[in-house]
Amino acid sequence: MAMATYRAFQAVGGGKLELVDRPLEPPAPGMVRVAVEACGVCHTDVLTVEGGFPGVNYPRVPGHEAVGRVDAVGEGVARWSPGQRVGVGFLAGRCGKCPSCRRGDFVNCTNQLITGIHLDGGYAEMMLASEHALVAIPESLHSAEAAPLQCAGVTTFNALRKSVARPGELVAIQGLGGLGHLAVQFARHMGFRTAAIARGPDKRDLALSLGAHHYVDSEAEDPARRLRELGGASVVVATAANPGTFGPLLGGLGPNGQLVVVGAGLEPMQVKVADLLFGERSIAGINTGTPVEIEDALNFSLLQDVRAMIETVPFERAPEAYARMLANKARFRMVIEMRPDS
Ligand code: ZN
Ligand code: ZN
Repeated sequence: MAMATYRAFQAVGGGKLELVDRPLEPPAPGMVRVAVEACGVCHTDVLTVEGGFPGVNYPRVPGHEAVGRVDAVGEGVARWSPGQRVGVGFLAGRCGKCPSCRRGDFVNCTNQLITGIHLDGGYAEMMLASEHALVAIPESLHSAEAAPLQCAGVTTFNALRKSVARPGELVAIQGLGGLGHLAVQFARHMGFRTAAIARGPDKRDLALSLGAHHYVDSEAEDPARRLRELGGASVVVATAANPGTFGPLLGGLGPNGQLVVVGAGLEPMQVKVADLLFGERSIAGINTGTPVEIEDALNFSLLQDVRAMIETVPFERAPEAYARMLANKARFRMVIEMRPDS
């Protein structure tokens, strides 16, 4: 009998993704094997495919927005059983032993493993994940719909619900891309007066259709001044990929306002200290969320009809999906489908 194999796109460094057949391996104790049905393409996949993340060993399969069904479970796994619909997000499993873990602060585990960096991810027909990394996927969400909510979704969801903003207050979302178009929907449905900031007049209709109450064209006006005219924002969520654009947004915050950074970029952000001192404003970061927080984001999305706008491609065209994301052409999240009917 031929050895059972599965197909995967593995990164080998330098931007290359190669299609390989890999032998199917049984899950180790505490691990679960997942038959992947869909996987979102996230900008952070760049750190695996192009390189740049310290400690990434090649070959490595990228992809941390995976959804599928449990295929096999390793010894000692009690919570999950074959056939269950599950997802795997960015955080691949906490150590359970470090001071953060002992406090129950699993996002900040100092030995945190990352899907697609330390463990193979979802650009594949099969993947192995820690039982602690798995997300229960509601049956009423399609796999391709659920996929991007596991990174882009939970990140913007947590950015808002962990912020200082209270219902009715002004919240501004900078950027209307993969993260921003979700953040606007979440902000609206969480009960905030929602302003969307993007470049050019063309994005206005999109912003309003996503639920924004105000649209700020950053090419036509200074966003900080406009936010002050609107009364000052309690929170600005910065979702753009260029941190150089974040600092000036501080000026749009009201007293005790918070700039929440979720857009990942390598260059530094610059801040005028006076913008922090006067108004006692602060800056915070959000690193996706734990599996149970992803479940919160999925359930909220179902409750309030929040969805990512996605473009899907079949598994064989995964490199094309990655290239489209990299070229900033995705409208708005690319999803690779292994089983388009799921
Ligand atoms: Zn991501
Ligand atoms: Zn830990």
